[in-house]
Amino acid sequence: MIQKQKGTKDIFFEEMEIWEEIEKNIKEICNTYNIKQIRTPIFEATELFARGVGNETDVVSKEMYTFLDKGGRSITLRPELTAGVVRAYIENGFSSRTSPVKLWYTGSMYRYEKMQKGRYREFSQFGVEMFGSSSVLTDVEVISIACKLFEKLGVLDKLTLKINSIGCKECRAKYVKALKEYLADKIDGMCEDCKIRYNKNPMRIIDCKQEKCQDVKNGLPTILDYLCDDCKKYFESLKFMLDNLNIKYEIDSSIVRGLDYYNKTVFEFISEDLNLAVGGGGRYDGLVETLGGTSTPAVGFGLGMDRIVLLLQEYKKQETQKPDIYLLTTTNEQFIYATTMLANELRNSGKIVETNISDRSFNAQLKYANKIGAKYLIVIGDEELKSKKVQLKNMDTGKVIQIDLNVKEILNNI
Ligand code: AMP
Repeated sequence: MIQKQKGTKDIFFEEMEIWEEIEKNIKEICNTYNIKQIRTPIFEATELFARGVGNETDVVSKEMYTFLDKGGRSITLRPELTAGVVRAYIENGFSSRTSPVKLWYTGSMYRYEKMQKGRYREFSQFGVEMFGSSSVLTDVEVISIACKLFEKLGVLDKLTLKINSIGCKECRAKYVKALKEYLADKIDGMCEDCKIRYNKNPMRIIDCKQEKCQDVKNGLPTILDYLCDDCKKYFESLKFMLDNLNIKYEIDSSIVRGLDYYNKTVFEFISEDLNLAVGGGGRYDGLVETLGGTSTPAVGFGLGMDRIVLLLQEYKKQETQKPDIYLLTTTNEQFIYATTMLANELRNSGKIVETNISDRSFNAQLKYANKIGAKYLIVIGDEELKSKKVQLKNMDTGKVIQIDLNVKEILNNI
């Protein structure tokens, strides 16, 4: 038997309903913030991620699905979506639109990672990106959208929002110097990746997960001590606004994010119980220019939808949707009446209706209606068609009432 690829999964039945609930809330929330949806291709030129996300990041250096297509172009399945959205922003001239340009997306991403619970090779993200505003209020708005989604899904109190500032280029230059000085006599005892990071991108050392690097990491200088006055003020305003909007957070200077394009605000939503980051984001004022556009401030986030599903499975008892009504018929004539005169209209009113499409016997249909958890049942026999009166049975209580055989009556009683 051919099996699915490692790190991928089939999503169906109960889990699918959770995905649908999340997707429905995402759409509703983004709509209320007047954010428009964008869809970009699943594969892009490899160079987009090499330049955009950064060659030294784990994502680009180790995890990308990259191949040559038949025309000899180097293609990569998107490992994240910010770079793709920025490419679309530049290519489609979004900068000529009214600023800020506010976009949201959902879609699958691909990373060749070691699999474990909540870590897959194909996974989905929901993200929001806002272009054209350098105000801290946009950072706050972006964070509040993620909070709103978690709140609506009933899991906000299960998450910790961790915020940090990684400052501007000048702050980071000073910080990296201090970091390297601190690490100079310790780097030999650290992991091979950190030895490479030390020369190429020392801030990556901060999120190293290797056991042997943890002790050194505990004593590292913090970026917050190296922020310039502007970046300090910006971070203070961020905290002030979050406090006033009653958004709870912790300051964590070890949050530097795994991708190269961030500056100033960075944040992550962490589930301590699942020991997983459920999402993260931040400001990336330099990325549009790096990718060939005119300098444009921007801020956004990406949330791992697979991990949000895990959260809902952990904390929320999911009620699966049950049919509202089963229309029991035993002849073709009855079936045609049930479909054309009742089921169609009931479905148009949003009711979930099942009919006898497997041509079961009377008793088999009673069993089936029970099994699928139908809330009500109506038998439509020849007698009922003649008299235009039916028995409506509440399947939970067993209570039966007689009603006229028409859609309005049924809708009034279920
Ligand atoms: P990143 O783009 O690395 O900042 O990731 C943003 C969010 O996507 C993370 O916080 C996770 O929730 C989710 N995520 C990243 N990688 C994976 C993966 N391999 N499997 C499942 N979710 C992931």
